[in-house]
Amino acid sequence: MADLKLTHLLGDSYVVEGRIKLGLWGPKDDTVLLDSGMDESSGRALRRMIEREGRHLSWVACTHFHADHVGGCAYLKKSTGCSVAMPAFESPFLEETTYEPSFLWGASPFGALRNKFLMAPVCQVDRRLPQSGEWEETDLRLVSLAGHSPGMVGYVTPDEVAYVGDSLFDSDMVEAHGMLYVVDVAEWLVTLDFLERLEARWFVPCHASTVEDPSELISVTRRHLLDISDRVLTLCRTPMTRDDLLGKLMEWLDKKMDPLRYVLNLGALSAHLSYLIDRGEVEPLEDRGRLLWKAVD
Ligand SMILES: [Zn+2]
Repeated sequence: MADLKLTHLLGDSYVVEGRIKLGLWGPKDDTVLLDSGMDESSGRALRRMIEREGRHLSWVACTHFHADHVGGCAYLKKSTGCSVAMPAFESPFLEETTYEPSFLWGASPFGALRNKFLMAPVCQVDRRLPQSGEWEETDLRLVSLAGHSPGMVGYVTPDEVAYVGDSLFDSDMVEAHGMLYVVDVAEWLVTLDFLERLEARWFVPCHASTVEDPSELISVTRRHLLDISDRVLTLCRTPMTRDDLLGKLMEWLDKKMDPLRYVLNLGALSAHLSYLIDRGEVEPLEDRGRLLWKAVD
């Protein structure tokens, strides 16, 4: 992997410009990395950058358990002696990494789901962080950003830089993915309202540009979630199974399917169904041993 570029934002707050954007905060002798990239090679590139900058890595703190955010943790912990911190709810997924594909598939995952996109190297978590509030061992503040993942957090530095994980996406990412991965649509909408009020001088999403004003990213992400829910509701006017709904959605989005996309998109569709069911807009309908999903008249 090529050398990672470090962009200075303010004070002790930096962005690591890699395949996804990571955060780096703190003085040289007490540095915190925010997220660790996809795999061991990301960990190696981060270690080289830390050494090149003459820094001592104290912590790797992750926003959420998805493999592209935690994949470098095991290598960094072993090779630098740093400690690893995660939101408490997300920690078991890093300590037992078959949980992610099992969570998505609903059972022990078959071989094609045991890959680096769903399974990071296992790593013990040293500090389970609260969902929000001060993190006493550092001067970082945690903010809850649930929705994309059940216990995702953001980190706000004393310089007022907010590292917001996967809570904000731009239109290019929405177009590329078709459907963004989500576990709780209602929670994500609450998170977007929260981000509208959050006072910070820079916002650093992992999959979009660093911005001073996040309003465009907030509105793109919100519009996407509401558009997909709306489309699912429209499709449910013809009662159909969850798999048939997924097929119709992929046709509408003009996206192909494979086992990895299947479990991610089925998970996202399920989150939209939960949202619509809890709003009283969709209900289950038994039909000859099948369970169909139907728009409430
Ligand atoms: Zn994610």
